[in-house]
Formats: sequence, C-alpha cells, structure tokens
Amino acid sequence: MNLAKFERYPLTFGPTPIEYLPRLTEAIGANVEIYAKRDDCNSGLAMGGNKLRKLEYIVPDALASGADTLVSIGGVQSNHTRMVAATAAKIGMKCVVIQESWVPHDDAVYDRVGNILLTRLMGADSRLVNEGFDIGIRKSWEDALQSVRDAGGVPYAIPAGASVHKYGGLGYVGFAEEVRAQEIEMGLKFDYIIVCVVTGSTQAGMIVGFAVDGRAGRVIGIDGSGTPKRLREQVRGIVDNTAQLVELGRKIHDDEIVINEDYAYPAYGVPSPETNEAIRLAARTEAMITDPVYEGKSMQGMIDLARNNFFPAGSKILYAHLGGAPALNGYSYTYRNG
Ligand SMILES: *Cc1c(COP(=O)(O)O)cnc(C)c1O
Repeated sequence: MNLAKFERYPLTFGPTPIEYLPRLTEAIGANVEIYAKRDDCNSGLAMGGNKLRKLEYIVPDALASGADTLVSIGGVQSNHTRMVAATAAKIGMKCVVIQESWVPHDDAVYDRVGNILLTRLMGADSRLVNEGFDIGIRKSWEDALQSVRDAGGVPYAIPAGASVHKYGGLGYVGFAEEVRAQEIEMGLKFDYIIVCVVTGSTQAGMIVGFAVDGRAGRVIGIDGSGTPKRLREQVRGIVDNTAQLVELGRKIHDDEIVINEDYAYPAYGVPSPETNEAIRLAARTEAMITDPVYEGKSMQGMIDLARNNFFPAGSKILYAHLGGAPALNGYSYTYRNG
C-alpha cells in the first residue's frame, strides 16, 4: 500500500490521542474494554473533527487547480461545511456553502448557533436552501458552483462530507496507519473499530487502511443516515476507488464492508430516546461529549452491541470519536433538563 505518494496539507495537530475509558467500560457492564480515538480533538481549526483529516488530502488539489473559492454542501448544522469554511479561511480562499434542511428539527435557534454560527463567523457565504436529506450530488450545489463562475470566480467543488471526491477516502487510510503505530507503542491490538457512517468516506478509508492487516471487516459502521442501501453503494464505490489509489493490491469483499442499520431511527439528525441515553452515559462517565446526529448514534450502537454480546469476551474496542459537538447547541430544547 502506498499512501505516502499523496501530498498532505496539514490542517490537524498530528496523531490524535487514544485513551482508555474505564468508567464507560464499567457502566456498559460487558466483558470488553472501551477505548476512544479522539479525532474530535484533532485540530485548532474551529473545533476540528473528521472532515479535516479528509480535507488534508484535498487541499493540495484545490490549491493546484487555481481555484479561489471552496464550494460545498451539507445540512443546516453541518460539521462538514464548518470544516470547509475553516479550511478556506486558513488557506486564504473564499467559501460558499449550501445548507439544506436535512433534519426535521425546529429548535428556535437551530439555524443561528453551533456549526452555522461558526461557519458564518469565519466569513463563509452560507446559503440556506429548503431541500431534504440526500448524500449524493445535488442541484443546489451545482447552482452554487455556477453562481461562483458567474461572478468571475473559480470554484473548487467539495461534495457532501468530502466523500465522493476522488481523494475523499485517503485521510482515513492514514487513520488506520496511525492506529497501527499507536498499537505498537501501547502494546495492544484493537479487535473492533466503531465508526459512525453517513456520507461514507470515513469508514471507507478505514476499511482500506485496516485491510492491510486483515481487519477491514472489524470496522463496524453505525449508520446515521437512515438510507442504508444508498449508503452501502456509496461506501462500496469509495472503497474501490481508494483501494486503487493507494494500490492495496486486492479487492475488498462485500462482507468486509460492515454497516449496522439498527440505530439510525427515527431519522437522520433526530436522536431516539436510546441515542440520548447513550449521549448522557458518555457525558456522565467520561465527560466525553457526543452529538445527536452522529456520534451519539455510534455510541448507542456500541453500547447496545456490547450489552448484547456481539463482541467476544475480552475484546478491545476502539470508538472513533469523529467530532460534532457544536451541533448540540441546536438541540437546546431536547437537553433542557440534561
Ligand atoms: C461527517 C461526520 C460523520 C460521518 O462521516 P462520513 O465520512 O460522512 O460517513 C460522523 N461524525 C461526525 C461528527 C461527522 O461530522
């Protein structure tokens, strides 16, 4: 495998810490050990998160393209558009982000706080569009690209979640290499990796990265999209493209792409009572903050799978914490009593 041949523009602090979570491990009460890799603390850029790992491999291409404006898309409380706005500010480009009504949620300040507040603060042109959830390529996004051209600018297109970009999967191949190096230092090996999956390139990159030591199928994606069929196709495509780019040298089998659909209910961006209990448990045992859109659902999935003995006794589980806490501000009513 060859990841090093791709240029990486540093946007993060470097390798993220892995920590053991003793109180969460105890509270879950299964015979497993829970660790977290803190990609939520990966950068000083606008609170960081998983999208920066992906963008590190996309920025060199954006710079080489001669573009002056990054254009992307997400929901109203999109972490991704916040990270694109941060990247644009950091590299001195303009930024246009389309923010669609992906989530049926009407907290009074939903479109004023958290991610969208930070996005606006960093100078991005944030455009609210009344369209529903979809992880694919959108007309509103094509329109935004055209509007930049019409104004004499040169846009650089970054799709939702930076996922179906040609280099979207590379960052999380790097994550797997980083984990392997940390495992040697720590003198242990993780049996499972838990990761939230919505637009797909985080898990797809991990699958390719962990395929190197036979652990592709140990990367358990917890669906947050609620559209698992579409998601699986998208992950499949990103896996194939990324495997080819880094010269993995073999095809990933369908059964090595593991996506659990059981925790996305009731809808993308809407936490179930069980999601909220998982968020509270992580907060109250480890002060580890997870959000109702993404990490709360993967936390819920990990807890439920552990309690139902999905993981063999003694398993070491690595929870990939991908960020997302700013969105909590849009759910002030949900958590008004904690
Ligand atoms: C985007 C995001 C995810 C999902 O990652 P994908 O690569 O889109 O599947 C999970 N958690 C957080 C906090 C995110 O911002």
